[in-house]
Amino acid sequence: MPPVGAGGLKAEVMDQVAKNKVMIFSKTTCPFCFKVKEMFKSIDQEYGVTELDKIANGSDIQNTLLEVTGQKTVPNVFINGKHLGGCDDTLKAHKNGSLQAMLQDATNYDYDLIVIGGGSGGLAASKEAASLGKKVAVFDFVQPTPVGTTWGLGGTCVNVGCIPKKLMHQAAILGHSLEDAKHFGWKVPEDVQHNWDTMKNAIQDHIGSLNWGYRVQLRDKKVDYQNAYAEFIDDHTVKAVNKKGKEVTKTARDFIVAVGERPRYPDIPGAKEYGITSDDLFSLPYCPGKTLLIGASYVSLECGGFLHGIGLNVTVMVRSILLRGFDQQMADKIGEYMEAKGINFIRQCVPTKIEKLEDGQPGKYKVYGKYSDGTEYSDTFNTVIFAIGRDPVTKTIGLDKVGVKLNKSGKVVANESEATNVSNIYAIGDILEGKLELTPVAIQAGKLLARRLYDNSKVLTDYVNVATTVFTPLEYGAIGYSEEAAIEKFGEDNVEVYHTNYWPLEWTVAKREENVCYAKIICHIPDKERVVGFHICGPNAGEITQGYALGMKLGATKKDFDDTIGIHPTCSEQFTTLNVTKRSGKMVNQSGC
Ligand code: FAD
Ligand code: NDP
Repeated sequence: MPPVGAGGLKAEVMDQVAKNKVMIFSKTTCPFCFKVKEMFKSIDQEYGVTELDKIANGSDIQNTLLEVTGQKTVPNVFINGKHLGGCDDTLKAHKNGSLQAMLQDATNYDYDLIVIGGGSGGLAASKEAASLGKKVAVFDFVQPTPVGTTWGLGGTCVNVGCIPKKLMHQAAILGHSLEDAKHFGWKVPEDVQHNWDTMKNAIQDHIGSLNWGYRVQLRDKKVDYQNAYAEFIDDHTVKAVNKKGKEVTKTARDFIVAVGERPRYPDIPGAKEYGITSDDLFSLPYCPGKTLLIGASYVSLECGGFLHGIGLNVTVMVRSILLRGFDQQMADKIGEYMEAKGINFIRQCVPTKIEKLEDGQPGKYKVYGKYSDGTEYSDTFNTVIFAIGRDPVTKTIGLDKVGVKLNKSGKVVANESEATNVSNIYAIGDILEGKLELTPVAIQAGKLLARRLYDNSKVLTDYVNVATTVFTPLEYGAIGYSEEAAIEKFGEDNVEVYHTNYWPLEWTVAKREENVCYAKIICHIPDKERVVGFHICGPNAGEITQGYALGMKLGATKKDFDDTIGIHPTCSEQFTTLNVTKRSGKMVNQSGC
């Protein structure tokens, strides 16, 4: 064993494992070690060996092996980077043929791991696997949108999701703050104007720096990044084509599929010719002008919110309800606030056709629709944005050839270890059936999966009580059950809801609305009033919600919330003083701190 380098003993151990097809940690005095080495000799299989009783830090290495594999005894055997076990495990594997399969495995593979998709999940998984000594490649390729928009490395979040969305939300908040500033003594010109190009260019510059940063990180970790579209040929081989049409074929022992989703278009005349999606919006080379957003979930409401916030005329077309799956009291509050601010909502209506009236940047389009009662709708807009959901891009990557099971909508069916029905193919992120479509979820799944594959970890991604925030003008943070879901799950008599309106101190002098901000927790009475749902509508809801997610993960009860001393004067402290139950019917209006 070489001397311990900067990466520590664990890195050195994993390095030995990575460098040797068969690696045995042994002791010269151990008869079981002798047996195992003889067995490998008998099948003419070379092996690397570290005799722990012959080196000064042998017992430290043994402790490290315990940490890494859960096994302290010798021999400790690894095949092709995977932990096999001790003497009995090795001889048994030899006898039943699985050792031979493990030895063949990866014999001539180009990589230990190929990750398809360099977004939130794929990048996290590939970097983690590489830091565990694996030879890793990432294929990432963006298919242009129907109007030709494309972007760099990093996936949806960085390029056309969380990052540009939050920055444009911030642009809108700043506009609102300028109004507040007048009340605090600032002399703000009456004709303050927003400039789309300035905002868009600054945000795109930031995204460019993030794209570059990811490339550098992959290079530093020795992950082979290829800007090419990959599809399976067989369960150990992908074919990848770059934008110049150059094709390469690469093999790997394991695969992680992390190809994400792309926006859906409705099947109506003019949709793809004249409509755009969030994939185009954040880099749009002109101000969108009067805008129609179709859909009523996260993407639609957030984009509608910031476009209105920077001064545009915005309409949201809602097919049924706002924010399906979320607490509907909170969803209604968001809608009421947006409507009160001047965003137009067309409810119970779907689009039927789009016609172009004028070319231009932006152009002019006539949108036709139908209300649920059959009456017709029409209006003209400069920009029409579809935000009617996203489809996994799993149907064109050869998963059918290798037999990976997809559900009807193309989501990958996987178990709690993110393993598909094909033993060496895994899936993470937005394409997983029944999981949350959020960046930190994809990152956590990628990181933990790599550790389970290459570091003998057993830790699974915990998909329960994941906090989320909808960045609408009135931000909405949520953890756990909605009120309706809690009642359905536990029964109305077993659920206590504590709630309050509140008036953020910053809003008082600014003369903003008194009773629009709202906080509630949902408690499961028989379980010591454990908090099973957390909801807040108000400024900085995301920042507030994150910390409470930790409390809920640790099983916090109403009493724990009450026993926590608040930080005054903040919005977050509302949760430490909640004392009105919904059941009591008492008023929760506030008019001061
Ligand atoms: P992605 O990040 O989508 O990455 C997949 C990558 O694979 C892409 O680069 C794709 O081009 C590439 N690819 C696809 N097929 C192939 C192929 N065959 N070969 C090579 N490469 C391929 N989440 C939050 O947590 N907070 C937010 O505020 C938030 N805001 C959002 C706002 C918007 C407008 C949208 C659309 C999403 C938002 N999300 C947010 C969700 C978040 O972006 C996703 O959950 C996250 O990006 C999913 O990561 P992923 O790794 O599964 O896929
Ligand atoms: P969703 O699938 O959540 O919502 C789709 C919306 O479009 C619904 O309101 C739906 O209405 C409506 N709709 C569907 N089909 C039609 C149609 N043919 N005509 C009119 N309306 C239609 O999609 P999103 O794209 O908003 O979000 C996708 C995921 O991205 C989210 O689940 C979330 O995880 C993630 N995301 C996260 C964000 C964050 O963390 N802040 C922000 C943005 C996205 P109906 O209810 O009637 O079905």
